[in-house]
Amino acid sequence: MNSNNAIGLQQAYEQLQLRVTRFSATEQKLIAAQDRLDHELTLYKRLSEFNSKALQSTSLEHLGQLAVETMVDILEVEASLIVFMHPETGIQKLFSEGIPLQFQKPSKKNTALFRFFKEFPPHSITLLEDSQLRKVEKLKAYDRGVITVIEDTLAGIHIGCMGLISKQKSPLFSAFNPTLETLFQIFSQQFLALTIRLQQHLKIQHQLDEINNSKMELTKLSLIAKKINNNVIIANHHGEIEWVNDSFVKTTGYQRKEIIGKKPKDFLKRAPQSEAEHKRLVDALRDKKSVAVELINYTKNGKPYHNQIEIIPVFDPLGNHTNFISIQKDITKEVQARNEILRINKRFETIAEKAQIGIWEWEAESQKTQWNTILELQLGIPRNLAPVDFYPFWKNCVHSEDRNSTVERLHNFMRSNESHLEYEYRIQLKNAKEIRYVKTLLIAERTPEGKIIKLIGSNLDITEKHEAEMQLDALKKYYESLFNHSPSQKIVLDKNLNVAFINESLLKVQPDWETFIGKNISELTQLRLKRHPLKNMRRMAQKVSDAVDLKKLIHYTDVITTPNQKTCYRLIDVFPYFIGDQLQYVIINGVDISELKKTQKTIVSKNQELQKLNNELDNFVYRVSHDLRAPLLSIKGLVNLIFATENLEPNLKEYIQLIDVSVARLDDTIQEILEFSRNARLDVTYEHFNLKEMIHGIFEDLKYVSDVQMEMTFQDNGNAWITSDRYRMATLLKNIIGNAVKYRNRSLPNPFVRCKLTETSQKIIIEVEDNGEGIAPEHLPKIFRMFFRGSNSAVGTGLGLFICKEITQKLDGVLDVYSELGKGSRFFISLNKK
Ligand code: ADP
Repeated sequence: MNSNNAIGLQQAYEQLQLRVTRFSATEQKLIAAQDRLDHELTLYKRLSEFNSKALQSTSLEHLGQLAVETMVDILEVEASLIVFMHPETGIQKLFSEGIPLQFQKPSKKNTALFRFFKEFPPHSITLLEDSQLRKVEKLKAYDRGVITVIEDTLAGIHIGCMGLISKQKSPLFSAFNPTLETLFQIFSQQFLALTIRLQQHLKIQHQLDEINNSKMELTKLSLIAKKINNNVIIANHHGEIEWVNDSFVKTTGYQRKEIIGKKPKDFLKRAPQSEAEHKRLVDALRDKKSVAVELINYTKNGKPYHNQIEIIPVFDPLGNHTNFISIQKDITKEVQARNEILRINKRFETIAEKAQIGIWEWEAESQKTQWNTILELQLGIPRNLAPVDFYPFWKNCVHSEDRNSTVERLHNFMRSNESHLEYEYRIQLKNAKEIRYVKTLLIAERTPEGKIIKLIGSNLDITEKHEAEMQLDALKKYYESLFNHSPSQKIVLDKNLNVAFINESLLKVQPDWETFIGKNISELTQLRLKRHPLKNMRRMAQKVSDAVDLKKLIHYTDVITTPNQKTCYRLIDVFPYFIGDQLQYVIINGVDISELKKTQKTIVSKNQELQKLNNELDNFVYRVSHDLRAPLLSIKGLVNLIFATENLEPNLKEYIQLIDVSVARLDDTIQEILEFSRNARLDVTYEHFNLKEMIHGIFEDLKYVSDVQMEMTFQDNGNAWITSDRYRMATLLKNIIGNAVKYRNRSLPNPFVRCKLTETSQKIIIEVEDNGEGIAPEHLPKIFRMFFRGSNSAVGTGLGLFICKEITQKLDGVLDVYSELGKGSRFFISLNKK
């Protein structure tokens, strides 16, 4: 190899070496460029990633956070900050990455930060130096930064983005270069676009939500219209039905296909009494006005129902009438209930009126009072009194002495939680002297918390009742004083048999009884009293119970032995007083009959003595009369003998005749006395006998007494058999018929005596009638007396009718007479049947 070659080679080598070096420098450059490009690519990739992630973002918060994170990555800064401002809504937001937390919330201090951003012109990138950053307190720690402000005036959005590097970490970060600036510009523009997009998206979303909501609302409404219990009709502007809900079909019985296209009035028939309401409906619809009416319609089956109808005309946004919507409700039940309430109210009013009850009703909300006519009369309410003036008017009616207490009571009641209150007070009307008593019943209607909603009051005039009560009270006092002053001892038990009253006569003798007041009669049997044995108490309780059970007065005698061994008797009446079946009270009346008992004993022994004497007298009379008759009959015999003597001197004959008459009269008297004595002494003996036969026998005996033929008759009802004392009956009739003959009218040609027997289920009545001389009215009351004689036309003893009276009494009957002087007499014997 030559040197030239070597040199050449050397040169070539050096050149090559140089070229290699150059190449390697270029390669180095290329590699560096490659790296830079790679790095930029990475940054763009990050930007692209941010883009795609941000597109999915649904909230400003998320987007903001994503943006600050991306800024740190692509700007390769230590910290990043984004402020978002929307002046229209006043929204300001701050997002940050790598910055202490306290910055994140907008505060007063942040306002300086927001203001700081406003200093920079929009859409340009500014590199920040330490001197600028120092102006803001929060940014003091930073050495350098980069800032851009972007805005969209149409959307009204302002955004500020800032990348920051602190003094501390400054050496670790490289300086900003133009590539980064471009990237930052792209990023910030992208972020603005994304924010606007998100804002619009959110707005659309909101609108969609609203649409959705109103759709739901519509669905709900149509569901309500469908399912609601009310009947709904939608008609076109002619009133022709377009749609009805199920409830309408159910209520009316008409199927949809039958009625679509028809007007309701074409098929829903009305009751005649609904005409006036219907006219109101027609008028309103003609004027396209809303209307509410109540009609009586008929279902398809002809069943009437009360239809509450509300019709609303519907207009489109241009004001054209498009539809009628009618909401109807079957209110038959409500109407019935309302009518029932009205009926009850009416009845209640009638009752109030009939019972003279004044009624008022006060409403808390309106402070107004209503009242009925009865109250108007009771209080003299003037016709024109305003409903709010009732209370002061009423207050004035209350008697001045009762006013304060009555008003206070009313107020206390209102404050309480009571449901009703009853009280009495006096009223004295203006210019009226009279005081009247009123009883009031107040009823309150309250909220659950007890606040008054309504007060209803009834006023009953109880003046008469009050006066009656006062009278009753006076009467009670009067009777109490009567009871107290009564010598007999009295206990009054109430209806529950509790001792209600003991009079002073009893308390004077037994003061311990005072402790019994209020106690039940059954308790008294457990209590021991001085001088009052327990057995007597028990007996009293038993007698009270018997009297109440039997509902009648019971008497019994109580015997007490006093400490000095004296026996005292007390007659006790137990009188239960009932009204209907309700026991009211029991009066126990005790009378000391010890003296009476003593007297009774004396009377009984005296009576026995008298009886004995009487019997002896009777015997004596009988014996004397009997004994006197024997010599009398001898005299009579002797007189008859003298009469039989021939040639009797006329004078002597006359004397003898006088003796005969006297003897006969004496005999009559003795016989009558014997008759009387027999009636008194002998027992009554009853037997069955024929009265007709007896009377005819008497007629026979008397036939010859009269100088003229007398008509003597007996009449019965087909049966003349009676049961009585035969002997006494004969004496009785003999006397009465005998008198009829004796006292016949001698100037009459046809004297009569007529006997008649009548019988009832209880009595035998024998009537003896004559047409004799009759009895003077002044004699009538005396003819039954012993020895009374009222006539001289015949001889007599004056004993006959006296004996007759005695006999009828003994036969358990009465003897009566009707007579007229000069006309005749009628005697009645009326006997109780045996
Ligand atoms: P007496 O016939 O013995 O006088 P009575 O006791 O039988 O006594 O009658 C009393 C009186 O009643 C008679 O005196 C007579 O005045 C009057 N009297 C009784 N019965 C009749 C009679 N049927 N008609 C008229 N007067 C009579």
